[in-house]
Parts: sequence; structure tokens; C-alpha cells
Amino acid sequence: MAASQSERDLPSALCSEFLNFSAKDTASRWLVAADLQQEVYRHLAVYVPRILCQGPSGGSSNSSREEQREELACQLLLLAPLEWLLLGEEPASGLALLQEKNQPSPLCGHVFKVGEPTYSCRECAADPTCVLCMQCFLGSVHKEHRYRMTTSGGGGFCDCGDAEAWKKGPYCQKHTPTASNRDTEEDPVAQLPADMVARGYSIFSIILKYAVDMLTWEQEDQLPAGLEPPDRGDTYYCMLFNDEVHTYEQVIYTLQKAVNCSQKEAVSFATTVDRDGRKSVRYGDFQFCEQAKSVIVRNTSRQSKPLRVEVMHSSVVAHQCFALKALSWLGQVIQYSDGLRRILCQVGLQRGPEGENSSLVDQLMLNDSKMWKGARNIYHQLLMNSLLMDLKYKKIFAIQFAKNYRRLQTDFMEDDHERVVSVTSLSVQLFTVPTMARMLMVEENLMTTIIRTFVDHLRHRDLQGRFQFDRYTAQQAFKFGRVQSLIGDLKYVLISRPSEWTDQLRLKFLEGLEAFLELLKCMQGMDPVVRQVGQHIEMEPEWEAAFTLQMKLTHIISMIQEWCSTDERVLIEAYRKCLSALSHCHSSLPDGEQPISLSLAGHCVETFRYQVSQDKVSIHLPVCRLLAGLHVLLSRTEVASRFPEQLPLGELSPPLLIELPLRCLVLCAQVHAGMWRRNGFSLINQIYYYHNVKCRVEMFDKDIIMLQAGASMMDPNHFLMIVLSRFELFHIFSSADCRKRYREANKDVVQQQNTLIEEMLHLIIMVVCERYVSGVGQVEPFDEVRREIIHQLSIRPMAHSELVKALPENGNKETGLERVIDSVASFKKPGVTGRGLYELRPEWNKHFNLYFHHYSRADQSKAEEAQRKLRRQNGEDTALPPPVPPPLCPLFASLVNLLQCDVLLAVEGAVLQWAVEPSGGGWTESMLQRVLHLVGMALLEEHQQLENSSGDDDITFSYTSKITRPGEAPSTSGSVLALLESLQNAPHLEIHKDMITWILKMVANIKTMRERSSSISTVTISQGQGKEETVRDKDKAERKRKAEMARLRREKIMAQMSEMQKHFINENKELFQQSLEELEASTSAAAENSPPSMELSCVSQVCVGPRRVGGAERRQLVTCILCQEEQEVRGHGRAMVLAAFVQRSTVLSKNRRRNLPNPEHHDPLFMHPDLSLGIHTASCGHIMHATCWQRYFEAVQLKEQRRQQRLRGHTSYDVENGEFLCPLCECLSNTVIPLLPHTHTPDHSVDHPSLEAWLKTTSQQVAALHSAHRKQIDGVAEGAGPGVPEGFRVDFIPQNPFSSSISEMITTFSMSTYKVGLKVNPNEQDQRVPVLIWSTCAYTIQSIERLLMDEEKPLFGSLPCRQDDCLSSLTRFSSACWTAATVTTTHTHFIRLLSALVPDSQVENTPCILDIDMFHLLVYCVLSYSSVHSLDQSGRSVVDSAHLHLLHLVTVAHLVQILLTSTTEEVCMDQDSVGSEEEELTCQLYNTLRKHLNSVLPEVTSGWQLFRCIKVGVLPFLRAAALFFHYLNSTAPPADLLVTGPGQWEALCSYLSLPSNLLQLYQSQHTLLEPLIHRWCCHPGVRQTLQGGGVSVRYPRESNQLIELPEDYSVLINQASSFTCPRSGGDKSRAPTLCLVCGSMLCSQSYCCQTEVDGEDVGACTAHTFTCGAGLGLFLRVRESQVLFVAGKTKGCFYPPPYLDDYGETDQGLKRGNPLHLCVDRYRKIERLWRQHGVAEVIGHAQEANQTLVAIDWQHL
Ligand SMILES: [Zn+2]
Ligand SMILES: [Zn+2]
Ligand SMILES: [Zn+2]
Ligand SMILES: [Zn+2]
Ligand SMILES: [Zn+2]
Ligand SMILES: [Zn+2]
Ligand SMILES: [Zn+2]
Repeated sequence: MAASQSERDLPSALCSEFLNFSAKDTASRWLVAADLQQEVYRHLAVYVPRILCQGPSGGSSNSSREEQREELACQLLLLAPLEWLLLGEEPASGLALLQEKNQPSPLCGHVFKVGEPTYSCRECAADPTCVLCMQCFLGSVHKEHRYRMTTSGGGGFCDCGDAEAWKKGPYCQKHTPTASNRDTEEDPVAQLPADMVARGYSIFSIILKYAVDMLTWEQEDQLPAGLEPPDRGDTYYCMLFNDEVHTYEQVIYTLQKAVNCSQKEAVSFATTVDRDGRKSVRYGDFQFCEQAKSVIVRNTSRQSKPLRVEVMHSSVVAHQCFALKALSWLGQVIQYSDGLRRILCQVGLQRGPEGENSSLVDQLMLNDSKMWKGARNIYHQLLMNSLLMDLKYKKIFAIQFAKNYRRLQTDFMEDDHERVVSVTSLSVQLFTVPTMARMLMVEENLMTTIIRTFVDHLRHRDLQGRFQFDRYTAQQAFKFGRVQSLIGDLKYVLISRPSEWTDQLRLKFLEGLEAFLELLKCMQGMDPVVRQVGQHIEMEPEWEAAFTLQMKLTHIISMIQEWCSTDERVLIEAYRKCLSALSHCHSSLPDGEQPISLSLAGHCVETFRYQVSQDKVSIHLPVCRLLAGLHVLLSRTEVASRFPEQLPLGELSPPLLIELPLRCLVLCAQVHAGMWRRNGFSLINQIYYYHNVKCRVEMFDKDIIMLQAGASMMDPNHFLMIVLSRFELFHIFSSADCRKRYREANKDVVQQQNTLIEEMLHLIIMVVCERYVSGVGQVEPFDEVRREIIHQLSIRPMAHSELVKALPENGNKETGLERVIDSVASFKKPGVTGRGLYELRPEWNKHFNLYFHHYSRADQSKAEEAQRKLRRQNGEDTALPPPVPPPLCPLFASLVNLLQCDVLLAVEGAVLQWAVEPSGGGWTESMLQRVLHLVGMALLEEHQQLENSSGDDDITFSYTSKITRPGEAPSTSGSVLALLESLQNAPHLEIHKDMITWILKMVANIKTMRERSSSISTVTISQGQGKEETVRDKDKAERKRKAEMARLRREKIMAQMSEMQKHFINENKELFQQSLEELEASTSAAAENSPPSMELSCVSQVCVGPRRVGGAERRQLVTCILCQEEQEVRGHGRAMVLAAFVQRSTVLSKNRRRNLPNPEHHDPLFMHPDLSLGIHTASCGHIMHATCWQRYFEAVQLKEQRRQQRLRGHTSYDVENGEFLCPLCECLSNTVIPLLPHTHTPDHSVDHPSLEAWLKTTSQQVAALHSAHRKQIDGVAEGAGPGVPEGFRVDFIPQNPFSSSISEMITTFSMSTYKVGLKVNPNEQDQRVPVLIWSTCAYTIQSIERLLMDEEKPLFGSLPCRQDDCLSSLTRFSSACWTAATVTTTHTHFIRLLSALVPDSQVENTPCILDIDMFHLLVYCVLSYSSVHSLDQSGRSVVDSAHLHLLHLVTVAHLVQILLTSTTEEVCMDQDSVGSEEEELTCQLYNTLRKHLNSVLPEVTSGWQLFRCIKVGVLPFLRAAALFFHYLNSTAPPADLLVTGPGQWEALCSYLSLPSNLLQLYQSQHTLLEPLIHRWCCHPGVRQTLQGGGVSVRYPRESNQLIELPEDYSVLINQASSFTCPRSGGDKSRAPTLCLVCGSMLCSQSYCCQTEVDGEDVGACTAHTFTCGAGLGLFLRVRESQVLFVAGKTKGCFYPPPYLDDYGETDQGLKRGNPLHLCVDRYRKIERLWRQHGVAEVIGHAQEANQTLVAIDWQHL
């Protein structure tokens, strides 16, 4: 690529141009030019290609420096002259002046970025598309309202200040109109100086035209006239365009091949193409580019149409680039002045010479689908900043938009880009303004246009002209997906109904309705089904498309009804139109059918032959259903009663009206009865959606209403006979012996019929009883919602979101739930887990209707069970009688007659008659229950009428008298009442007894009422019930006795069970499966288990040194969880092991920037005080034989191998890394700790040497070892070495005190710690093996000490036993692990460790005391000393003396360490007060240190402050030491440490055998310690650290916490929305993710931020865990509101976020949009999980429980 080389230095060539160029001069030259456009074009022709044509980067450069240079050149050479020309003065001051004089309209107009939070008020927003930006929201009244929070998908703007968008509070504080705001009617152009206006017009038109020409330019090699570059080279770009067909991977792969780039470059190209819509992938001469093009085309054309690639001349690309910059510039300039904005609007919308649709904006819109993404985004943004912000031009633009609507939509349909980058998506900005929508409807006939466009795009029809979706191709499905956005536009137009109607509006709306009816007619009867008999259907027919359409239209249909309801004339006209559409659909209905005549119970009706089970039937009946909706409106608005003459009610044929809905309902019943099994799942899904909350409002519900409407216009007997006939049940009830169900030979048929009878009875119940639709019954919408909620809550208490899901939403996504919920339910707050629940208040139980129409069968039986249980608990009878229904509206009033008509009585009689026979097989319980319900309803109705009537005359209902009459011909048996009486005591009907009793009581009541009705008073039920009181009491008592007996029996069984469980492993299982939460709660368990508390004595306890109280000689008996055998823990016995989990940890880290150590060369002997990486060991406390465990683990391995061969899946644990699940509690483990016996009580007869004496002996021993080692290495026998203490034998090889099985386990655990801790392969010979074990011992104790401290728990006795066991075996194990290593190794470690305290010239590289964690040092020293001591065969010293002296030495060193790091600033204290002894000693020590360090330390006068520092600083060390020695020596802790409170310090000191004034340690050994302290201070490291300000750790080290989170979740969203990907230059990150440990924001789940870790590309989160959490991470995915746990590369899980809405629910995925607030308790819970090192285990459990989690590629997050 020769070209690029020379182009490189172009920018510097430009530099000279910069210097010589004057924007001002250029502008003044232009000002006087005759043809301004020509001048400007000439300028652009010269400069644009020179600035923006810079080689390979191709306009959108990669390097940001180049980009900056380009930007600067554009500004100085191209834009500045324009600004001078426009403003007539220096641009900066000119613009400032403009802005100052500007009187802006009070519109916010903030354009949303992707992921930015938006707010909408559920109470005040005109529709859900009205949103506020965060700033406006916070300054608005809606903050206090019920609001919804969502994240923007990008595009769209803040509606603050738009009075039409808000019912209340349209302005925030900032945008409240003030006096300085311009009146919206005033012309803002008038405020600008006239000459500027003139210049503005000409500049804007030149630039806008230039930009439009360039963006719509289609030639690749030519430029528009006047722009040809003076010197044209052979330089081309190979431009790759975006499409939505090819995947990222395909593009990347192709590019690597075509342009020979690296994968990284290809990824970057692909990312840019995806973002901007195009990207040049090659620069060079024409041939060179053409070649790349052909490779790309060839490679991508195989499966689909090829990627679009064009070879474009560099000057064309440069001008297109500048065109975009010019558009952005225009957008910026008009921000300064509303006047300029209007000028731009005028320029943009001015008609060109070509007339219609020739304005510049029209040209842009009409070419939208041809432009690339980046260009579209920029001009859309300009439209939003200009036209949409100017109310006058917004209207004009809207009209243009509406005029072009059909064309734009068609273009969009052909285009393959997402809708957000299509100009059609602007419809939301235009159509949702109610006045605008109305105007467009009236003037541009928008409603009709949208609907017609929509219908035109759905071309697939059947012979009858109906939509046909069942054989849809993928291409058609794709189109269908796109065409749906039109429905969205229609929704915007209809979303707010008009408060006032004009004749024009009526006309246009009805025209639209007519178009809509045409659409519905295409749907009526679509996708018909025919019952499949014999064979199963071969192919499941496609059904989803039809239902998608139905679902999308549901809101539209509802909204059209709402519009109709606001105007009587419209309603009447709409009803007429709908009816005529329906009769059109019906025209073919009874054709060719011979009428048949049915007769039953003395009634006769004509109908025609049709069977659902044999003929075609369709679920889609939108025309019928719309008519049903309008019919209800006629009733609700009382139009029907006021203008009966205008309604074509006479044209209605009720049997025809009910025909299709009835067929549909019968179809459901038959499917239920199993008659359609061979039709497959497609039908089952359709039936499901028919009833589903998303569709039912305009499907199932309307069908019921249509039946109600029909039935109310018909003779009830006729209605029922048609129903019976359509259910194909007529013959059963009509035959002469109907009361004795004839025996069907076929059992299946009987069963089917039974179900059908049940379904039919249910349907009758619904037709009569469902009155909670305003217009059917006399109710308000409020009652309807309340009834839904009552019935949902009758099933069980529910969370808010569950209730929302169960209720249908309206166009505003409101269910009305909030208005009602508090009146019927009480709210129970959630705890740390679970969610808040609403519980139905008991007083609402009486409204429960078992046959509530929205219950599924499952819901119904659950609700029934719950209600019966409730009644039993309250000691009530279990009858569930129908509730009292609301009265019907007059139009539906005759419905009640169904209940008492002869046909129904005949049916009831028949079923009751069947029920007399216990095992007839011809009836079912449900059937009987439904009949009883119907009887109950009839009785209630009669009772109501009696109660409400003043006399006997207006009572039309006489059910009681009818059921007393014996059955009429043809049946001859007894009356319904008689049957009921005889059934009352039938033993096989025990469950129904209560209900029958209730019915009989009702009958008696009504009789009494009728008898009394001559007199005035009426009797109510409750009074009537009073008489039965005694019967009831008796009943109650009996029930109670039975309940009591049942309880006793239950208790007995429980007792037996628990007895048995004691012997069962499963009991333990449950016990230990308790999650980590209970760690803190199990104090009592631990207290029982830890022996110390029981043997408390008044003798002061000492845990270290020769005075220590003996670790118990107790025998330890443990049980193996695998074989259940008991075993004593002995050094020579069979090894017992504890399942354990070892992991790296950074929980205590004070320095997260430290790099992970190099595993091969890391020297872990000295732990740095920043504790940046530790090894933590945990255990579930379950003990096994080593052999049992080995066998178990081998089995696990084997199983895993087999499984991998079979299905290559993952497991939640990694067997190859030694992971397994505890066989009992399934706790994640990766090793085992062997159990070792307690240490023996020290031999008190041996003398305790003084510190001085001990130091002397030890130095001699060390010296002896030194020389021995040297001898070994050099082979040189030195003469008399240093004096070897008596009895000390350097060549002694101590006997291994452990059996081989224990030794083996010691190696096992050692290797695990080594492997995990250093991330290396096992190597038993490595000298670092013992160090890592000591390290995990120290680190684990330290982390537990911190937890106990921060949770204010006592040091001892509060740990759960599993942790207690773990620490105790870990510590004892650590003290013995040296036996597995070579003796010299341990000696060397001890010598090096000791040299940190007692400097030793023979040891090199000893760190200074500021760089050592003293607790780790103590633990290492104590644990390594045993190996040295084992060589001392004199028997004159005990190991305990050494421990004590080491403790003292380390403590003093720690005190010095604390003092050195304690102060930086002096706090002036009261100088007068006389310090205590402690304070004085502290001062003394401090001054000694200052002396040694020559005042590197500041002067401190206050001993009090220093002493306080010491006391606080040393406490964690002492506590950790106490824990350590407690577990090492099994010494019982003193009583004071088993509780929290005063006296801790003294108890601690005495337990550790330390003086309570710690300074005495130093004071009493002054002469001995002084030189040591001097040498500590003289270590060069100390001075370096102190002077360099490098003190990173001060004492006490503060405990780490998770980062602080904001209370309001939207703050986080806002933060995340401004977060840009750190790698791809200012791009918004798609999945911003917050590290909860360190607070870093990451660009997760994205190609751009993948990093290579150990040779594998991983996502930003996984990569981050390796630097921040040693492989373990806790994150918050901000857009999803989800906590993410990651461990290693393959494991992870999601965890509920600590944010809850007001209903106590999380919103994972941010779907509901309720405001979220931080729940501190839940966040603390996550924090505790982290600090307890429990995250890995939570992941393990989650993956075990949910296998889909295992398959997720966690490393890519
Ligand atoms: Zn705003
Ligand atoms: Zn505002
Ligand atoms: Zn509000
Ligand atoms: Zn065992
Ligand atoms: Zn376990
Ligand atoms: Zn982090
Ligand atoms: Zn990124």
C-alpha cells in the first residue's frame, strides 16, 4: 500500500494551511460573492478531500489522535468560515450573545442515549410513551407519584414542557415557563436581526442541500456539480455495509480472508459496521479495492444475499463524512437560538422546484432506507432537534410524514434494518400528541391510511379472502414481524380518546372503523380447524401468527370501543356498521343446511344441523366480538333505551348471534373432554391463548357476553336447547328415560359426555352469573378489577407482580390494581429472601365464586381447596355457595330466567336423579356440584327479589315453587326438591352435604319470606340462620373433636418419625443443608459442641506457654458419614478426614492493584501486611474415613468419565481439579483435612527458661543448624563449630508420629493447598509446601476473627460447629504437617522467620518489619519451631516455652510496627493531664523509635493518643492469636471471652499469658529488646517506607466491605448510561457491569472488551476477577438489575439483586419498571456471603439445582 505512506504526513502539510487560513477573511469574501453557493462549494471541493481523506482509516479513523486532528481541521477550515458568515462576528462571542438573547420555549427535548433511565408517571402521563429525563423527573411533581422507570433503547426525547403529554405537572422546576419565555404563538425569527435572518436562510439552504445531496448520492465515482476535486487521484475505499442477515462471526471470518487482517482488526471492523452501518475495510487503488470486494461477495453469497460492498472514490467518502459533520453542526448551531431553529425548519420543509414531496426533509425521509445507519442516526437526531422542537413546524412535518406514510412504510418493509434506525420510528413523536393525532386523522385520514397500509401488506389470503398464516415462509414471517409496527402507530393515534367530537372527526373515525372492519373480516374465521379422527395430524399447523395478530390488535379493539363509548352518534353508527359486517360474514352460515326441530320439556325450537366435532370451526371471530363489545356499550351508555328507534335491534337474529361464539366454546369443551387429541399441540396452544389474560378480553370474555346478549333476547328454553344441541348432548336429556342415563357400551364416550355435561353446566353458570362487566351488570370498572383480585388471592397470597400478570392491561399498561388492592388485601413484607405478599382480608371471602370464569381448572381446584381449608379452620361448614351477584342492566335483565326455565329444571332433575345411584358411572361429582351451584344461584335470585320487593306483584321469580312440583312429563319421578332432600343424607355424597343443607335452608327461608310477605317485614338469611344455631353448634363441636383427634394422631406420628430420623443419615442431611445464613444463628449448637463452656472453672485459663491448661486428654469419637462406623481419632489409627474447600481469597486484601505472584518464583514465607492474596479453607464439618472418602471420590470420577463420554456436558463441579460434593450435604469441596489428636498437657516439671536464656539456646541451635547445612552443601567439615547446646542433635531424624494412612492424608491436603494457593502442579518436594499450609491456617483464622469482630460476636462460642471443627482440625493439622516435609526444609524456614525478629547475619533477604504481617509470622514461627525442638533430646525444655517467647517477641515487634505507622498528623491533646503508666511507657518507646530513625517520625506529645492507637491496633492480632492457641492447644477459653462486653482486654491478655499493660513486655526486657528494636529500625526498608510515604497499611486494618450502593437504583442506571467502553473509543457499553468489590464499571459480554487470560479469550468480568478477586467476582449487571457471581472461567450464577420495589420484589431484567430501592439487609447478606467465602458454594448449589446455568458461557460475561 504505497499510497498510505505518503499520506501519513498530510496533517503536517495541513498545518501550514492552518496558519495561513483566516476564517474571517474567507467569510467576508463569501459575503460579497455573487453566487454564494458556488463559492462555498469551491471551498469545500478543495478542502474536504484533503482533510477527510486520509488513507486506511477511511473517514472514521481508529486512532483518536488522528481523529482529533481531523476534527480540528474541519472546525478551523470548514465550519469556522460558515460561523463567521452566519454571525458576522467572532463565533464564540456571537453564539454566546445569541443564546443570551434567546427566549427558549419551555421544552426539554433532551434526546436519550442508549441505556439512559427514563421516567413516566403512571398517574399523569397521557400515555406510556410520555417520558422524562432524569433531571426533569427529579425536579417534577411526579417524583412523589406512582412512576415507572425504564431504560431507553436510544432515540426519543424528554417530554418535559409538553402540556399535552401530561395530565398534571407538565413542567419540571427547570422548564417551568417564566416571563422570559416566548409565547408559543410568537415568531422567534422576528427577534433576530434582519441581516442575520437573510444570511441564515442562504447558509442553511446551501449547507442542508449539500448534506442532503451527499447523503442521498448514489454514484461511487462521481461528485455533484461544483464539488469535483481539483486533483483527483486513484484512491478508493472498499466500503462494507451493515445488514441484519449476516452474523458477527460470518463477517469477521470473511474479512480475515478478504482483506488479510488479524482477527482483532476484523472484530473492530465488524463492530464499527454494526454500529455505524458502514466501514471502509481497505484503502488503495481501484483494482486493489475491487479485489477485496469480490472476495467478500463471493464468500458471503452462498446461503443468503451477499454482504453489500462498494468501491467508492475517496473524495465521495470524504464529502459524505463532511455532510454528516455539517448536519451535526446545524444541530448545534440551532440550539443557541429558537429563531435560527425556525429558519432551518423553514429551509428544510420548503418545497423544491419539483413540487410535491420535493423539500429537503422529504428527500431525506424518502431516501431513508437507502442510507447507512450512521447517516440515518445523525439526520434523525437533527430532525428531533429542529422540527420536533418547534411546535409550528412539528405540525407541518407531521402532515408531510402522514402524506408520505404509505411510501415510508413500504420502504421500511423492504429494508432490513431495525426499526429504531428507520425514519418510521418517528411516528411515536408525532402521533402521540393528541391534538396532532386528531388533526392528522381529520385532515390526512391517518387512521384509514394506517389500516389500509397494514392490510395491503398482508397479502396471503385464502379463497374467502381471509388471512392465511398456516403455511408461512421465513421471509413472510419476517415481513409480518415488521408490518406489526403499523399496529403500534395505530395505537398511538387512538391512545387518547377525544373529549369533543366534530362532524369531521366522526366521519373520519367511522371511515377508519370501516377499514378496520375490513381487516377484522379478513380475520373472522381464519385458521379453521377440523377434528382429526383416526390418524394424528401430520404437521402441526402454524397458529402463532394469527394469535400474534390478535394479541397486537387486542388493545386497538378495546380502544376503538372506548372511542365509540364517548359519542352516541358514533356508537350507533359503529354498531350498524359492525352488524352489517357480521351479517356479511354470516351470509354463508346456514346455507345448504336443512333446518331441524328440537323439542324438550314441552318446548320446541328450530335450528340447523351443525356439529363442532365434524365440521370446520375457527377460534378467530373478531367481528362477532367487536359487536358484543358495542352491544355492552349500548347498554352501559343507555343508548339502547334512549334511542331504540335508531338501532337495528330488530335485524338481529339471536340464534345467529350466538352461533359462532357458542361453537368456539363448545370446541374448548370438546378439547377438554379429549375429543381433539389427534389435532396436536397447535390447537391446545390456541385454546390456551383464547383464555389467556393477554387475549381473553377480546376473545373468551366477549364470547360469553355474546351468549348473554343472545340469551337475553331469546326464550331461555330455546337458548338452552340450542346449547344442548351444539354440545352434542341433546339426545341425553331429551330421550324419554333421560333420568336414567342409558348405559353406553363405550367407556370413553361416557367419560367424554360427562366432561361435556360439566362444561355445559359451567357455561350456563357463567352466562347467568358473570355480571362484572359494566353494561352487563350494574357495576363500575372498579368492581370488575376488585373481583379479579379477590379471586386470584383466593387461590393463595400473591406478590404484586403475580397479580399484575393475572390482570389484563389496558393501552396504558395499567390494570387498575393499585386503586383496589389495599381495600381487599393486606400486605406482608418480605424478609431477607422471598418477596412481599398480598393476602386477602377475611371479610372478602364471601365474594368467592367457585365458578369464576377466569379460573383454569387447576386454579379452580386450588382455590376450592384453599377456601374449604379456611372454612374448616374457622369452624364453619364447607359449603361454597354462590355469592350474591350484582343486579343486571335492563338490556340483560331477562338472563335470570335461564335459572328457572323448564329445560334447565329438566337438566337439573336428570343429574340429581343420576346422583341417587352411588356408582352409576353416568354422573360425576363435578356435575352434581355445578347443578347444586345453579340451584343455589336460582334461590339467591328469588331471595333477592323477595327482599327488594314491596309486594308480591313484581316478583317474577318463583323457583321454589317450581322445584317443589314433581317432574313433568316425560319424566315421572319426584321433584327437584324431593331429590335434594333424599340426597342430603346419602353417604356417598358426604362432601356435598353442607351445600345441600345450605340449599334446603334457603328454600325454607324463602318459604318463610313468602308467607310473611303479606305482612311488611321480611326476613333475612342471617335471621333465618339464627334458628338453626343449635344444629350448627352441635356440628361445630363434632368437627372440633375430630380435629383434635386428628391432631393427636399427627403428633404421635411425628414423634415416631423423628425418633426414626435420628438414625437416618437424611436427618443430618437436612440439618446441614441449611444455608450459610445460619452460620451466625447456630450459637447454641456450637456452645453445646465446644467443650470449653462446660468445664469452666474459676482457675484462670491460659492457652499458651508452660502454664497453659492442658488440652483435654479427651477421647475424640467421630462417626463416618459414609459407613456410619464410629472411630476414635488417634495418631496411629485409621485416618479420619473432614471434607474441605480451599480457595484463593482477596477478601482481606488492602491492595487490589498488586499483581498476582508468579507461581514459579513466588516466595510465600513472609506475608505482606496488605494481605493481598490469601488462601482460605472452609468445611461443611462432615467426617469420613479416609478410605471411605477415597472410594467415594473414585466413584465420582468414574461417573464423570462415563458422563462426559455420553453427553459432553458440564457439571457444577470440576472433578479433574479434585472437586466433589460432600456426600451428605452436597457442599462444594475440593480436598479433605485429616483429623489429628489433641496435644498433650505440658510437662510442668520442666523449667521455663527466661527469654534471654531461650534466645541464647536458640541462637546456638540455629548456628549449629547453619553449620550442619553448610556441611551438607559444601561437604567441608569445619572444625569445632559453634558450641552446640547439650542434647541437641542436628542429625537426629525424628520419628513420624502418624500412621501411614494419616500421613497419606497429610500429603493429600498439603498438595491441595499448594496447588490452589500457588496455582501450580503438585510437587511434594517443593520447599513451599508447608508454608502454604501455615498460610491457610493463619489466613482463615484472621478472616474469621474479622467477621466475629464486625458482627460484634464473642470471640469464642459463637462459631457454628462446622467452622469450629474446621479451624480446630486445620490448626492441629498445620502443627503436624512438617512431618511430611524434610526436616531441613522446615529448619530453614524457621531460621529465616526468626531472623526477621532476631536479625541474623547469615540470613539474607529478610524483609523489614513493616513488610510482614505479624500474625502470619507468629503462626509460621510457632508451627515451624516444632521441627527444631524435635532435635532437642535433652528433655530439659518444652515446646511451650518457646511458643510463649515467640508470642512475646512478635507482640513487641507488632507494637513497634503499629507505632511506626500510627501517626501522620498530630492531634493536639490536653497537655496538662498526667498520663497513666501505659501512656508514659508508650511515649518512651515511641521516642526510642524516633531516636533510631532520626526524626523520620513526627514528634508526638500525646501519649494518650499513641496508646489508644496501640490498643486498638494490636487487638485483632491478640484475638487471632487467642483463636490460634486455643485450637492448637485445645485450651478452654475464659468465661469473659464467651460473651461480648467489658473485660475483654484483660481476659484476652491473661489467656495469652501477657501482661495487660502490653508495654511491660518491652519495659521488663528492656536491655534485651533495645538492641533488637534498634536493628529493626535500622533495616533500610523501614526508612524507605516511612519517607517515601509508602505506608499502605495502618493498624488496625479496616475490614473490607462491598462498595456502597446508591439508595435509588436509577442513579446506578444513570451512571451506567454515561459509561463508555474503555476500548472502543467512546462507544456506549451494552452490558455495563459493576464490580461490587472494588466499584469498577466494566463493559461486559462484548467482543470489544475480551481479554486473553491463560491463553483463552474471556469477557471483561472474568478478566476482572483475576485481578480483583483471584478468580472470584461479585458483580451487578446494571441494565438487568441482577447480581452475578463468577468463579473461575466456567462457573457462575445469577443472584437476586439487593434492590426491591415498594411491593418487596426484585425486578430482574428491569421488566416491570417499578422504582427500586436498596434493601440494606439483602446487600449485607451478599456482603456476608462474600466475607464468609461462601460465594463459590452458592454457585455450586445454584448450578446443581438448575442445570441450564451450567451450560452458560460464564467466561464471556
Ligand atoms: Zn428533560
Ligand atoms: Zn424539565
Ligand atoms: Zn404524576
Ligand atoms: Zn467410613
Ligand atoms: Zn457436608
Ligand atoms: Zn473489582
Ligand atoms: Zn467494550
